[in-house]
Amino acid sequence: MLKGKSAVITGGVRGIGRAIAEIFCKNGADVLLCYKSNDAAAEKTQDELAHYGTKVEILKGDVADPAFAAEAVAKAKADFGKIDILVNNAGITRDKLMIQMKNDDFDSVVDTNLKGSFYFLKEISSVMIRQRAGSIINLASVVGVKGNPGQVNYAASKAGVIGMTMSAAKELGRRNVRVNAIAPGFIETDMTGVLNDEQKKKMSEVISLGKMGLPEDVANVALFLASDLSGYITAQTICVDGGMSI
Ligand code: NAP
Repeated sequence: MLKGKSAVITGGVRGIGRAIAEIFCKNGADVLLCYKSNDAAAEKTQDELAHYGTKVEILKGDVADPAFAAEAVAKAKADFGKIDILVNNAGITRDKLMIQMKNDDFDSVVDTNLKGSFYFLKEISSVMIRQRAGSIINLASVVGVKGNPGQVNYAASKAGVIGMTMSAAKELGRRNVRVNAIAPGFIETDMTGVLNDEQKKKMSEVISLGKMGLPEDVANVALFLASDLSGYITAQTICVDGGMSI
């Protein structure tokens, strides 16, 4: 479905980003996986995805640093010659009730989740404009749509991602560049692994399907949005949440 295409995936070595990287490789894409610090996960993912036979490159850096986006573009262009797909997936949480939240907890989440996505969106969309083709997928969250106590910082960053997605889609549509978002609900990754069983049980009670999602549930939708099957879809946010947000 993605044969001959190339993708940049931020946070592509663990969790949802890794699942997206795997399904992209399985479907014929070359991938550049950006990550912040976990060298072991990056090397393991690179090794594990090699058997699909496409190019799997890794690049270490902080998405909150605008220079990193430029570095990723330069590497992807040198390795693949073009960039067809961007997945803005890198994200963090620093959960606390608002009155206890330090300004730094707010800034670091917005810097990574929102500003980091903007830097990659801006750099890579200029490549896609010249190509007159591209698909950009931003990872939002149901928390950005509905809010959640203890996540004022995270909700602000993800609501920002949704607004940015719609505005960028309006700017880029005439250049044949599509921009969409995925808003996952409660997905089993290291990010949610910090919650205890009681917290997980409580969360599952508000999910219509009664269970947490898997990274692959999100990756399937990313594959659809990256491929030509979604060629007439832009500016949308698709919830992958087992009915949690209704
Ligand atoms: P995860 O398992 O914690 O993995 C996060 C990935 O992002 C890691 O590869 C990490 O790099 C990378 N990363 C974090 N900060 C970075 C930075 N400043 N620069 C570069 N890379 C950075 O997270 P996940 O659960 O898969 O979540 C992926 C995305 O989905 C996030 O945007 C998250 O907000 C969103 N989401 C997740 C859920 C959920 O339930 N899990 C729900 C809604 C939305 P290292 O490996 O080097 O640490």
